[in-house]
Amino acid sequence: MERANEPRLEALREQGKNIYSISRLNSLNQCPYSAYITYVLGDRGDSNVWAALGSIMHDTLQYIIDEGVSTPALTAGLLTNKLNDGIDNMEISGVDFPKDRNGGTVIRDNWIANMTIFCDHFKAPEGEFKTEQLVIYKVSDDDYVQGYIDLLKINDDGTVSVYDWKTSSQFVGDHLIEAGRQLVLYAQALEQEGYKVKDLAWVMLKYCVVRWKQKNGKIKEKVCEWRNYVAQIRPYLLKPPVAVDIDEFELDTIVAKAVEENSLDGLPIELRNQFEVSQYVRYYDYNQEVIDETLNYITNQIQSYKDRGQEEKNYPPKDVAKDSYFCSSLCGHNKRCPYYKDYCSTFVKKDKNDDEDLF
Ligand code: SF4
Repeated sequence: MERANEPRLEALREQGKNIYSISRLNSLNQCPYSAYITYVLGDRGDSNVWAALGSIMHDTLQYIIDEGVSTPALTAGLLTNKLNDGIDNMEISGVDFPKDRNGGTVIRDNWIANMTIFCDHFKAPEGEFKTEQLVIYKVSDDDYVQGYIDLLKINDDGTVSVYDWKTSSQFVGDHLIEAGRQLVLYAQALEQEGYKVKDLAWVMLKYCVVRWKQKNGKIKEKVCEWRNYVAQIRPYLLKPPVAVDIDEFELDTIVAKAVEENSLDGLPIELRNQFEVSQYVRYYDYNQEVIDETLNYITNQIQSYKDRGQEEKNYPPKDVAKDSYFCSSLCGHNKRCPYYKDYCSTFVKKDKNDDEDLF
């Protein structure tokens, strides 16, 4: 079913209710002018590489769960093919990854390497799941916030666990709270429907977690990017918690090969079995503090839209000079945005002036 045609949403629209999404609420913080183009003028803009490839991975994972595909070779094949097709299509349509600081392809290469290895290692989760579950949070009689939960696990005790696939990098600092609001919103909407929410988490596709039992018996874990996870645990392989009967030189050679192949499979079994590698699932604390913060945020953002109304002048641009990366790489409106054009034109003028100086 097309998302826009969901009967529950249709019914609310017919009653004249205001329906927001978390993206719409967040958009005001990223750039009010972008929010104006998207949500007042109704122009969704161009997709960027992250949104397009993220969407492909989401759709493929949804298919795998919905169809019950659990054989690792099949899941790896499906994910890898879709990923590669998506990357090819991006190239054909001229949508590129952002360049790194030196104008090179490090960002692209690292992302593809992480996702390719994720595809190879993906194991379909076990249990009862619903995918793309529509939730609608009632803020007031007039205002609602809707969202779609990537993966909802129905636990044996009747509680539910909320999971969101993420192809982005780890959340740090304020970004963690911002990202967490989406999960908390889902949980609150589910609770309005009568569910009991057990936990909230992101499945961070670019990362794995390696765990091992230390000499003191405690479990240590290290979150690593998939593309070089063996290199990141190299010191622990060279000094494993349980000593192995391999001389230092030979161990060094064996571990060097494992690092080169980015795989633990070739290690002697006594060493290999000390380390467990799995997909990184990052849990987010669901407590009263984050609930209050999220609900306040939602109320304030809705009020901000109401205060601004439909007039363009009430939606100023972000500070382009301060965050031109966002404008150039993440905003789907940069081709039509006069503020970004102005910003870019200052460079053209400067280049011309430099030429005049030179000649
Ligand atoms: S290009 Fe920058 S200033 Fe313009 S709409 Fe996009 S984010 Fe806002």
